[in-house]
Amino acid sequence: MKIKNNLKEIIVETGIKMLAEGLTVGTWGNFSVRDPETGLIYITPSGMAYNSLQTEDVVVLDKDANLADGKRIPSIEHPMHLALYAARADVNAVVHTHPIYSTVLGVNGMELPAISEDFAQIVGYKMSCSKYALPGTKELGQNVVKGLGKENGVLLPNHGTVVVGANMPAALTICHVVEKSAQTYILAKSIGTPNIIPDADIKAMQDYVQNEYGQKGA
Ligand code: 13P
Ligand code: ZN
Repeated sequence: MKIKNNLKEIIVETGIKMLAEGLTVGTWGNFSVRDPETGLIYITPSGMAYNSLQTEDVVVLDKDANLADGKRIPSIEHPMHLALYAARADVNAVVHTHPIYSTVLGVNGMELPAISEDFAQIVGYKMSCSKYALPGTKELGQNVVKGLGKENGVLLPNHGTVVVGANMPAALTICHVVEKSAQTYILAKSIGTPNIIPDADIKAMQDYVQNEYGQKGA
């Protein structure tokens, strides 16, 4: 099957952005894209520094985790990435990060409700806190798929977050909105009782952003 260098470049560039934008620290976190044409998944290698990653370091797997290209060991979370792609046909990018505020919620086993317009529009009704499992296990993958449901983000207890998107730019925007919302929620809770956006308004905002928001037809 055809291996695409431009998809490997997306993985390398995302690593640089993850560090620059403070979405993760060290070599933690991992991310992948799926080629909608071939179904192949391009994923980060395990435990390698993002600032020196080369396209040759990207690992390409098929949907059953067979190696299609690459010489590195894939991220230990590849079973989770594959499980997410299998569960969600609308998803072509998966990003797992360890950011501070989202992780704080996960440490307390709390969920993140929709408290702002951007979150409601592109993350969903809420981010659940998935069931605990050890990193790199199939069980973690299953728990993450269940916790994610139809939304675009899920919290991992004592670990971090997973977000999904139609493509990598969309997934990275979701990462930022999630972390900003987690920070806002924690601050709001510290001085009062946050108001949660009603479900009907979330639906209206999601419809609006999909059909009308921005420069449609421009
Ligand atoms: P990898 O370096 O193998 O992707 O593991 C990092 C991580 O965050 C595991 O949950
Ligand atoms: Zn992790």
